[in-house]
Amino acid sequence: MQLYSTNNKQLKADLKEAVLKSLAPDKGLYMPEYIPVLPADWFNNIRDYSFQEIAFDVCKALFDGYIPENDLKTIIESAINFPAPVVMLDDRHGALELWHGPSLAFKDFGARFMAALMSYFNKGNDKKLTILVATSGDTGGAVAFGFLGVPGIEVKILYPEGKVSLLQEKQLTTLGENISAYEVAGTFDDCQALVKEAFLDKELNEKFQLSSANSINISRLIPQSFYYFEAYKQLLDYGSEIVFCVPSGNFGNLTAGLLAKNMGLPVSKFIAATNINKIVPDYLMSGIYQPRPSIATISNAMDVGNPSNFARMNDLYNGDVEAMKKDMVGYYVTDEETRHQMQVIHQQYGYIADPHGAVGHFALQKYLADHPNAVGAFFETAHPSKFEDVVNETLGLEVEIPQRLAVLADREKVATKIGTDFAGFKKELLSL
Ligand SMILES: *Cc1c(COP(=O)(O)O)cnc(C)c1O
Repeated sequence: MQLYSTNNKQLKADLKEAVLKSLAPDKGLYMPEYIPVLPADWFNNIRDYSFQEIAFDVCKALFDGYIPENDLKTIIESAINFPAPVVMLDDRHGALELWHGPSLAFKDFGARFMAALMSYFNKGNDKKLTILVATSGDTGGAVAFGFLGVPGIEVKILYPEGKVSLLQEKQLTTLGENISAYEVAGTFDDCQALVKEAFLDKELNEKFQLSSANSINISRLIPQSFYYFEAYKQLLDYGSEIVFCVPSGNFGNLTAGLLAKNMGLPVSKFIAATNINKIVPDYLMSGIYQPRPSIATISNAMDVGNPSNFARMNDLYNGDVEAMKKDMVGYYVTDEETRHQMQVIHQQYGYIADPHGAVGHFALQKYLADHPNAVGAFFETAHPSKFEDVVNETLGLEVEIPQRLAVLADREKVATKIGTDFAGFKKELLSL
């Protein structure tokens, strides 16, 4: 399997290099050179396939023999080992629950698949792999669980001080073993900038074999396409004009959907739902891509002012905003609307949505109101207990915290405090 850089299609890498390096040498993002289309027969029979079978078939087509089938099977079975159910709120609106993994967020899919793939590729290498990851909350938790105890791999997580929830922080800072945390006095964008700079730093690259776990890594993106097929399979009973509404920050999830569509999945529309950090909805309106500093919201995993996967989306459409608009529509949702929507969902359906899911439901409802033949799912990207403060306060209840998260509450936080300047971070890393 060959991939190219979004900055230069002539700059190529194979899958192993793309996974281990994460970013192309010219700072572009890797994209598969060839995106196969699955046969019509396969789609006709999709109801007969389990989620793991779907994941295996999609991945096999995409990898095109790069990893032997037996090994690929093992990778899929270890990574994709929890379900992605669509819970229908009524006969047109479904919630695709992506939080059934260990850290209770959709990022478990990407993190587990990446961990499985990286340890597969790093087998027989005596140099340790150091994973640097910036998180606005959920990425870090998923990566921490995904890599915990994986031999030969160290994980360093950067998160913005005071901007992640208490239980999110516990996931980053209490697991120990090969997982360590840096608490940055800044925003998520600052964390991301530090990581990006580290990858380009000569000294750090000499000392460490660096790799990333952010959504820029292609191995995060690929497994996120699997559940579009899985959700499509479940939605077929409700209609044939199927839309997906994706609450988005760095747009990894949405880009994975575009990948699925390019593989033949008949999605009639993608709805790009954001909070007030509405860079992409604005782009779809104006054709102008205008990154801005991020603004803090209650759906904080989407507080992104310069979505990293925009480069991939742009690449898939060759920079043609009109073409993108045929497949995608943008909505943005304010905090006030988000809270109100959480209440509406709870009152109407007895369903507790987290703030990100509520952003998705709001946008889906708007879209479906104007498209009477469509049915769709919004992505419930995290379990509501991951944002328990907002959820409890907005709904006037106490959301139950699943056991696998609750046990972390009493563990002691261990994190290194750093500033936003790269020199300080570098010094900290070199001192190890
Ligand atoms: C990461 C995250 C998002 C945003 O996903 P992207 O792929 O970055 O667009 C949305 N909701 C939750 C809960 C998240 O953790």
